[in-house]
Amino acid sequence: MISRFVRDNHISAIGETGLHYTQYNAYGHVREWQEELFRKHLDLAEDIGRMVIVHSLGSFSQALRVLKDYKLTVILHYPLGSYPVSKKTRRLIKTSVERGYYFSIAPKDRFGSLEEVSHLVAREVPKNRLLVESDGPRRKKIEPAVVVKIVDKICHDMKVSEDEAKKILYTNAMKLLEKQI
Ligand SMILES: [Zn+2]
Repeated sequence: MISRFVRDNHISAIGETGLHYTQYNAYGHVREWQEELFRKHLDLAEDIGRMVIVHSLGSFSQALRVLKDYKLTVILHYPLGSYPVSKKTRRLIKTSVERGYYFSIAPKDRFGSLEEVSHLVAREVPKNRLLVESDGPRRKKIEPAVVVKIVDKICHDMKVSEDEAKKILYTNAMKLLEKQI
């Protein structure tokens, strides 16, 4: 039923889906259950040829472990990894780059830690695999226009002008959408 809905409505991605590990759902059976549902979404995406948008709060390495079993176009949506940026997070970003995943940069969280990862990603991920998004931290009103502020902050890390960064990010998003529909 879901696959028919996706096809009939020109839906270009499955997600966001993924793993959300916090202190409230850190227990074994909840994690197993999340992984089972995550895999169902990934199976579906593979079956119908759609990309996936992956959420990996506190579960970056586990999400990458699961994704390794699939051949999919993957967008890693924030937040991911641990803060401050650890060696492990750097390694996971590198692995994701090697696998050809896209990274979507979100507005900063209230601790500013998300911003730290954003700068790192904008520096270390190839420009043609960067995206921006307006999904934001809880308890904060976020509007789509916030992506302009993100671009303003990361263009220096991308080593391009703000206008050039906008062009690159727009082109990346459009190419991905065209590929899917
Ligand atoms: Zn999310």
